[in-house]
Amino acid sequence: MEPVLQVDSLSKRFGSIVALERVSFALEAGTILGLIGPNGSGKTTLLNTLNGLYRPDSGEIRYLGRPTRNLRPHQLALLGISRTFQNARVFHTLTVTQNMLVSLVHARVHSAEAQERARQLLTFVGLERYQALPASELSGGQQKLLEFARALMTEPRLVLMDEPFGGVHPEIKALLLERIREAQQERQVSFIIVSHEIPDLLSLARTIICMSYGRIIARGSPQEVSEHPDVIAAYLGH
Ligand code: ADP
Repeated sequence: MEPVLQVDSLSKRFGSIVALERVSFALEAGTILGLIGPNGSGKTTLLNTLNGLYRPDSGEIRYLGRPTRNLRPHQLALLGISRTFQNARVFHTLTVTQNMLVSLVHARVHSAEAQERARQLLTFVGLERYQALPASELSGGQQKLLEFARALMTEPRLVLMDEPFGGVHPEIKALLLERIREAQQERQVSFIIVSHEIPDLLSLARTIICMSYGRIIARGSPQEVSEHPDVIAAYLGH
């Protein structure tokens, strides 16, 4: 089966800093890839490059077999790549439902259908009773749930999540973990999840990649990677 994502020798520098150095990997459809590594190892830069926020200096990204090099985030969103951020990016003065609908501004979706999809997804993440409230009324964890639900509005094949569990109340974290698993298993959504919450990530991901100084230093099953001497050394070194 064709991978949902194929990344070949991706490099990105910021001045003298090498944020990504010849990063290559493939992601099978309907699987969850966990991305770990010490601070500054290039994880966020990789997500930003995959969703079109940054243009790589060299290398290639293929999404469902198609090169994405010149595509912008909103174009990639329409093709099925969604993104969430380390600090949930919600519009505080808009209502919860309006936050859901903004993800479809570039899509040709009938408004009644969009409203219904928003309602179903807000129910999916347990936020249905907050629909009419401004997003500023939600807790930090609930804003992460909202951002996750919004990422599903475009019916993505791939969702890129940056630190979804950081600082989130344990109850909300448990719900988020369950819903990510359901989206993967029942909707065949693939995920790349950056997280420092290693036990949570290990429980979700089939494969883990560990980065250090812009390079992939280990990849494999959660157990293989967590026991890898280079991974242990990279974390101890920081
Ligand atoms: P991580 O997500 O693993 O903490 P980042 O991808 O944020 O790592 O950062 C990798 C390296 O690239 C760091 O040295 C960081 O300072 C640098 N970097 C990231 N984004 C930028 C940017 N927009 N401008 C300059 N340097 C950046």
